Amino acid sequence: MSLDLARVQTRLVHAGSPELKDGSGPVNVPVVRTSTVRFADTAAHAALNQQRAAGGRVATYGRHGLDTHQALEETVASLEGGYRTVLAPSGLSAIVLVLLATLAPGEHALVADSVYSPVRRVDQALLQRYGIEVEYFSATKDDLEPLIRPNTRLLYLESPSSLLYEVLDLPALAAVARRHGVLVAADNTWSGGLYYQPLALGAHISIQAATKYLAGHSDVMMGVVTVDSAELAKKIGVTYDALGLSVGADDAYLTLRGLRTLDVRLARHQENALAVAQYLSRHDDVARVFYPALEQDPGHALWQRDFSGASGLVSFAFQHPDAAAAARFIDALRYFSIGASWGGYESLALEAAPARLAEHSHWQDGTNKQSVVRLHIGLESPLDLIDDLERAFTATRDALRRSA
Ligand SMILES: *Cc1c(COP(=O)(O)O)cnc(C)c1O
Repeated sequence: MSLDLARVQTRLVHAGSPELKDGSGPVNVPVVRTSTVRFADTAAHAALNQQRAAGGRVATYGRHGLDTHQALEETVASLEGGYRTVLAPSGLSAIVLVLLATLAPGEHALVADSVYSPVRRVDQALLQRYGIEVEYFSATKDDLEPLIRPNTRLLYLESPSSLLYEVLDLPALAAVARRHGVLVAADNTWSGGLYYQPLALGAHISIQAATKYLAGHSDVMMGVVTVDSAELAKKIGVTYDALGLSVGADDAYLTLRGLRTLDVRLARHQENALAVAQYLSRHDDVARVFYPALEQDPGHALWQRDFSGASGLVSFAFQHPDAAAAARFIDALRYFSIGASWGGYESLALEAAPARLAEHSHWQDGTNKQSVVRLHIGLESPLDLIDDLERAFTATRDALRRSA
């Protein structure tokens, strides 16, 4: 059977499996830790260096990553439908790698204003210092074509967006960018790569914080960058080497271990999150739920067209305009921990900072300015999660009434 043609669940289980040696072998790829790679003789050393220089996936030094890294790269590339995947020490470093590999001083990038907020920090702390100009635009309202300049090299976006899960029309945006020779990179962390295929929809590069759903157990920091061509792999590879990036074999192993069960975990995250989103959408204390799998969500039709599932992230805005509502609500929760990151098996709650929401044009012209809570719905029983949320709504109402 050719693995390339197998369905995604099968590829998640079988991609990157180690070859049998002398008739047997382990199910899992070994954790190959090393700094130095040894060579049989100088000719072998020279030949492998040459293969690497020509763009081959060959390790001549520990930083390049050996069998464990390669098995993870192959599995992610297979999941994303890409030519090659590279591993970065975090999701954010994967984003930085893409920005530095595709942009040079004097060049211009268009970035959707709803992206993961730390991208703006990278812009301020790094890109501006190196003379790279980033322009933020509304990917749902602005016409992209007139924003493209002769020096525009990159269109960077994330769909659905962070915090408010605004769904973008990637095929339409990518078609415009491609007409002008602009590269398209998409942050695909939300879908885990399982429910969304940016490369098939027109992006050249798909990025994920593997820290989230790929690893899936809140115990690894990892980023992955998947590209659609040998030419881009080379471009990314050169910058990767120049930045001296490297990830540990143990972290690569844990991420690969997480990937094997991505399908079953995400199916349950989705089922639980949909139950919670429906509960929230019927609640008197909730003004609005942000979850594209809900029929009333403005992104629902696009989500239905381009996605095959939804993840465990659900945000909602309070009906009550009191700014303290979110904090009181979160403090009353029992099963939801307070924490950034997400994608593990556990439920989390975090107030979406008003400064973060203000960056999104999607939010700026919304009529309500109430506080927003972002939930990550874990693998607990949805009955317990909904009981917990109901208790917190009651506690919030009581607290607000007392302080009024
Ligand atoms: C968390 C996250 C990142 C950054 O990943 P880290 O591994 O935490 O650095 C990037 N993009 C999105 C959408 C994220 O949610």
